[in-house]
Amino acid sequence: MIQYEPIAALATAPGIGAIAVIRVSGEGAISITNRLFRGKDLTQQPSHTAHFGTLRTASDTLIDEVLVTVFRAPKSFTKEDVVEISCHGSEFIIQQILRRLTDEGVRLARPGEFTQRAFLNGQFDLVQAEAVADLIAADSDASHRAALTQLRGGFSKQLNVLRQQLIDFVALVELELDFGEEDVEFAHREQLRQLMLDIRRALHPLIDSFSAGNVIKNGVATVIVGKPNAGKSTLLNALLNEEKAIVSDIPGTTRDVIEDELFIDGIRFRLIDTAGLRQATDQIEAIGVERTRQQMEKAALVVYLFDGAAILPDELQQAVDEISASGKPYLLVGNKSDLIDAQRQQQLNVVVNEAILWISAKNQRIDDLKLALSARVRTDAAVQTGSAVVTNARHYEHLTATDDAIARALAGLDAGTTPDWLAMDLRVALQHLGELTGTIITDDILDSIFSKFCIGK
Ligand code: GDP
Repeated sequence: MIQYEPIAALATAPGIGAIAVIRVSGEGAISITNRLFRGKDLTQQPSHTAHFGTLRTASDTLIDEVLVTVFRAPKSFTKEDVVEISCHGSEFIIQQILRRLTDEGVRLARPGEFTQRAFLNGQFDLVQAEAVADLIAADSDASHRAALTQLRGGFSKQLNVLRQQLIDFVALVELELDFGEEDVEFAHREQLRQLMLDIRRALHPLIDSFSAGNVIKNGVATVIVGKPNAGKSTLLNALLNEEKAIVSDIPGTTRDVIEDELFIDGIRFRLIDTAGLRQATDQIEAIGVERTRQQMEKAALVVYLFDGAAILPDELQQAVDEISASGKPYLLVGNKSDLIDAQRQQQLNVVVNEAILWISAKNQRIDDLKLALSARVRTDAAVQTGSAVVTNARHYEHLTATDDAIARALAGLDAGTTPDWLAMDLRVALQHLGELTGTIITDDILDSIFSKFCIGK
C-alpha cells in the first residue's frame, strides 16, 4: 500500500446544488484538512466518522459550514487516507475550499486519479477500475447491469486464475529450453492442451458478448430511411415524443441529418433521420441521398419507412430489394395505416412476401414498431441474462489476441512444435491476459485509460 501525495477534486457534478462533495486523498489528507477546519481534531478521529464544523480562510474568515467524513488508510476507496468535505453546492465556496487546500500543498487531481490510485493500491483490477467509469456513465438498465457485473470482478477473476495456471506451464516449457538437446518434457503436454482448451472456452463467450456489449454501451445505430413524405420526421417525433425534426408537407425538406437517442426496454437506440432513398433531383438532395447510403453503412439496424397510401407495389419491391442487398438487418414499416384499409395492407404484404409492420406515425400508433425494435436486439442472450458482457474495445482486443495466440500454440502442440515456439505463443497470450486485467501495465496505458475518466473520479 502506498500513500501518494495528497490530491483533491470536486467529487459531485459541477454547478449549483444543495450539497457538493470535495474529496481529498493521499498522505496527510486528514492533517491538512484539519488545518482549515474548526471543530473536533480530525487527526484524532476514527475511520468512517463524520464531523460537523466550519472551514476558514487563512485570515480566519468563515468559508462555509461543512460536514467532514474521515476514512483512514487502508479502509477507503483509494486505500489512502481520505477526507470527504460536504459543503454547500456553490461554485464560489467550492473554489475557495479547493484554493485553501492547494495553498496547504494539496494538488488538484487529474481525471480518474482517485480510481487510478485505487487500482495501484490493489483495490481492484483494471477491468473493475474501468467498470467504475462505466457505472457512473450508465444511463440504462442494461448498461448499469453490465457495469455492475464487471465491477464485482466479472470475468477478470476467472481469467486471472487461468492465467496463473498458464504461467506455471510456461515456466516448465521454458525450463525444457535450458536442457536444449536432451529432449526432456517437464510440461505435461496433455494437461497443457486441456488448460489451453479451458482458456479458450472461457474466452469465447466473452468475445462473443462484445457485439451485445457494444449495443448496451453505445446503443444500436438505427437509421430511418424512406422517400420524402413517407413520414420519417413524424415518426422520429412520435418516437422521441418531442418536436426535434422539421416536419413539412413539402417533399424533401428533411435535409439535415438528425441524430437522437431513444430507450426502449432499457436498450438504447441511436436514431438517424436522413433525406431519403430516392434518386437525387437536386444538389441538396444529392448530398442527402449520399448521406443515406453512408448512414446505412454505419447503421446496425435499418428502418425502411414508406407511405402505405402512396407507394406503388413495384416501387416497394424495388426498395426492399435495394435494402436487403445492403445486407443490413432491417424492418419494413408501412406508414399512414389510418389512410388505407386492410385489403390494401394485405395486397402490399403479398407483393413483398414478408412481414410489414403497419403504423400511423401521425396518430402515435407505433407500439408494434417499438416492440419489433427491442425484439431485434433482445434476441441476444447476453442482454437478457446479465452475464458478464464485454463492453470495452480494449478488453475485446486483448481477449481476441489471447485467443489467437492460444489457437496458434494449440496448433503447434498438435504439429509437435519445439518448446521455444510453444513458449513464444504462450508468452504472447500471457502478455495480453496480463494487460487486460492490469497485472502487466505500463504508465502509458494507465494514463490513457484513466484520462478518459472525469475529474473527481
Ligand atoms: P418525411 O419527409 O419522410 O420526413 O415526412 P414527414 O414526417 O414530413 O411527413 C410528411 C407528411 O405526411 C406530413 O404532412 C405528415 O403530417 C404526414 N404524415 C406522417 N405520418 C402520417 C400518418 O401516419 N398518417 C397520415 N395521415 N399522415 C401522416
